[in-house]
Amino acid sequence: MGVQQNFIGGEWVDGATARDNINPSDLSDIVGTYAQADAAGVTRAVDAAKSAAHGWNRSTPQQRYDVLEFVGNEIMARRDELGRLLAREEGKTLPEGIGEATRAAQIFKFFAGEALRIQGEKVQSVRPGVDVEITREPVGIVGIITPWNFPIAIPAWKIAPALAYGNCVVFKPADLVPGCAWAIAEILSRSGLPKGAFNLVMGRGSVVGEAILNNDAIGAVSFTGSVDTGKHVAATCTARFAKVQLEMGGKNPMVVLDDADLDTAVGAVVNGAFFSTGQRCTASSRLVVTEGIHDRFVNAVVEKIKTLKVDDALTAGTDIGPVVDESQLSQDMKYLEIGQGEGAKLAFGGERLNRSKEGFYLQPALFTETTNAMRINREEIFGPVASVIRVKDYDEALAVANDTQFGLSAGICTTSLKHASHFKRNSEAGMVMVNLPTAGVDYHVPFGGRKGSSYGPREQGRYAAEFYTTVKTAYTLP
Ligand code: NAD
Repeated sequence: MGVQQNFIGGEWVDGATARDNINPSDLSDIVGTYAQADAAGVTRAVDAAKSAAHGWNRSTPQQRYDVLEFVGNEIMARRDELGRLLAREEGKTLPEGIGEATRAAQIFKFFAGEALRIQGEKVQSVRPGVDVEITREPVGIVGIITPWNFPIAIPAWKIAPALAYGNCVVFKPADLVPGCAWAIAEILSRSGLPKGAFNLVMGRGSVVGEAILNNDAIGAVSFTGSVDTGKHVAATCTARFAKVQLEMGGKNPMVVLDDADLDTAVGAVVNGAFFSTGQRCTASSRLVVTEGIHDRFVNAVVEKIKTLKVDDALTAGTDIGPVVDESQLSQDMKYLEIGQGEGAKLAFGGERLNRSKEGFYLQPALFTETTNAMRINREEIFGPVASVIRVKDYDEALAVANDTQFGLSAGICTTSLKHASHFKRNSEAGMVMVNLPTAGVDYHVPFGGRKGSSYGPREQGRYAAEFYTTVKTAYTLP
């Protein structure tokens, strides 16, 4: 297989350089070699989008529906193959990869429907004889910058609404996962979209990402990634008055109260903290547990994680695949040391593991006897590492849950309607889960957080229209 090229102006084009995509489960396996664009490639993509914008902005709902439905149907039909590619390049297990590919298909199909449902308002003027119309129009050209941890779902939940509302797209995926991005581009290239309406520019954040942020023709940038990059994205975009939407990190609490059903709590915690190798912005990393259930809960979680099989993402029966790359693995290991240095007890895990093939395998780790002031409870680790914080009662649990710079997802396991209702109302997170893992959301409702986790309008569901459109108010004297 040769170099997989960028897709610009309806053509496959070489990059300035190329980069190998390595399988984190087997470092000898090269998934593919992908073109790396430079700043000139971004300029070319934006010029192509400008040429396409006038036509695509005025496309009919039926045209947009047809394109998005085509993409959704094809991803759905190929979900096993795309899920396998995803698992191979990112390290999620095969069932998780197939699940994510299925999600991407559902998102495209949802936004196909949304393209048919774009609405405006006609209201009475305060002046006699005047008509007032409020309509939603496309922003124009949207820059999309995505992280590596959901290589197909996150691009889908940005590209699909961007196109559904009539925008043209310049898309830059994360360096570690060009495979899924290229596969989406390849499907879009056959979808009936006009040339230039969708462009793929793979390459480094410091080169391709920067060129997107600084291009005046890009009217809106949707970014998902880390807080530090997000701050830079916001500063650069707002300086030139571009719209910006940021989804960033999390330090998501899962509260477990004395009256919780133990099996439900353990199931939700093990899923939320460790599945997808803990590499989810919505992962439960702080387990806030009341005294009466603390010891039983810790023992049950440790017993459960002992049974989890950490291995090649593509091997049947693997529960947890590898960490995505060497630098993320060293970050995880660094925090395992920091936690022990801070006085936390490593109740289980945290060893680097050897498997038949060389990969970035890490045993899931559980800290106990931690305080919310420790760095392991304040900073996002982004690996299969969770900490238990012991609290005396619900009030303290709520205070600890909210005491964080982040506010993406928060969970509570309880059989008390009173505490569940109070937590839903008083949690300072964008998404609240009762007796469910903090990770795992529906695709037709808004996704996003508060405080340092998110900035700008919500993503997904009907709320996506807020970011991908701009409102016009028109007055007519007939
Ligand atoms: P990252 O910030 O390193 O990179 C994200 C994207 O930004 C990549 O495509 C990268 O190439 C690009 N980028 C880097 N520097 C840039 C620059 N100067 N200008 C423009 N673009 C630049 O994040 P990551 O390591 O890929 O992803 C992990 C992070 O993403 C975690 O913090 C995680 O919590 C977060 N995340 C958040 C959500 C959410 O919805 N809240 C979802 C998934 C991941």
